[in-house]
Amino acid sequence: MDRDKILLTPGPLTTTLRTKLAMLRDWGSWDADFNAVTASVRKSLLAVIHGQDSHVVVPLQGSGTFSVEAAVATLVPRDGHVLVLDNGAYCKRAARLTTLMGRRCTVMGFDDAVQVSPAALAERLQSDRTITHVVMIHCETGAGVLNPLQAVADVCAANGKGLIVDAMSSFGAIEIDARRTRFDALVAASGKCLEGVPGMGFVFIRKTLLDECAGRSQSLAMDLHDQYVYMEKTTQWRFTPPTHVVVALAEAIAQFEAEGGQPARLARYTSNYQTLITGMKKLGFKPFLDPAIQAPIIVTFHAPADAKYDFKTFYAAARARGFILYPGKLTQIETFRVGCIGAIGPDEMEQAVHAMGLALQDMGIASAAPA
Ligand SMILES: *Cc1c(COP(=O)(O)O)cnc(C)c1O
Repeated sequence: MDRDKILLTPGPLTTTLRTKLAMLRDWGSWDADFNAVTASVRKSLLAVIHGQDSHVVVPLQGSGTFSVEAAVATLVPRDGHVLVLDNGAYCKRAARLTTLMGRRCTVMGFDDAVQVSPAALAERLQSDRTITHVVMIHCETGAGVLNPLQAVADVCAANGKGLIVDAMSSFGAIEIDARRTRFDALVAASGKCLEGVPGMGFVFIRKTLLDECAGRSQSLAMDLHDQYVYMEKTTQWRFTPPTHVVVALAEAIAQFEAEGGQPARLARYTSNYQTLITGMKKLGFKPFLDPAIQAPIIVTFHAPADAKYDFKTFYAAARARGFILYPGKLTQIETFRVGCIGAIGPDEMEQAVHAMGLALQDMGIASAAPA
């Protein structure tokens, strides 16, 4: 098969040939041409959330987690108190990095299969006045839940609390409007719904907070305020930029804009999602989440009850047919995940479902129904 394997994973994901081709040149980090690409990427990113008036965007080398860590270190004072709304694996990661950054951290736990509750948050903020910041994950990529960003932002605003949003797997696909939704920082990355390659994150920071962020970070490399000041002054990145990742992202953003921006991306991912769900149900698979809270980003399926099922074999059989699946991230029950994002459409999704059907046949499984 000539085609690269299709990545049904939430990053890295399948990219277009045009995006890959953008990486065939070398760029100097001091060169004006490269710095113009950085500036243009930053401008486009702000436009995605209509954040030109309210926020700046600061890119950072590394995978998405580096930027979440940097946002916490840069935004939260060292004596701050962070409340993490936890309904999954990425929330737990955010709590862990907050603690490791030396900030006081309280976790407010919810079930993996429900949204975080703005009402419960409001109550907690009333009963514990020491909380300074709330961290939430917009789309919890662990199970695939879409969390209620607007309602959480409204509760934080009403209580005068800072809000840091990990919008890694939603940015570019789910609407986020900084004119309407109040947040201190919002974090995303190159290799998710913008369909770039992995290697850089970026953090939107409310302009009015920038000055007070100076000197908060205990880490040099993770200091977004320092990165911002340096970039504004010199147009360059502090430290070696991921040059090929940046130019690939510029190319990916051009395609994103040509496709019709966020609404068009959401429409394509929704049609991928519907094709997936319809096909998988025919095979007997059962999605883990209530469709009302499911984001069309990544879908968790229950493992089939058939004793002949085993994820490794299923994965290998789908892989042999050109599709890369993703293991489940739930601790209590056995599941696996299928991503709907990347430079693929319903045709590729149809083929993916077909490949999973053949994988079941290989394994002698007549129905994928769970226990
Ligand atoms: C992908 C993702 C991240 C970042 O993960 P990395 O492995 O560091 O790229 C963070 N949060 C969410 C919700 C994600 O989907």
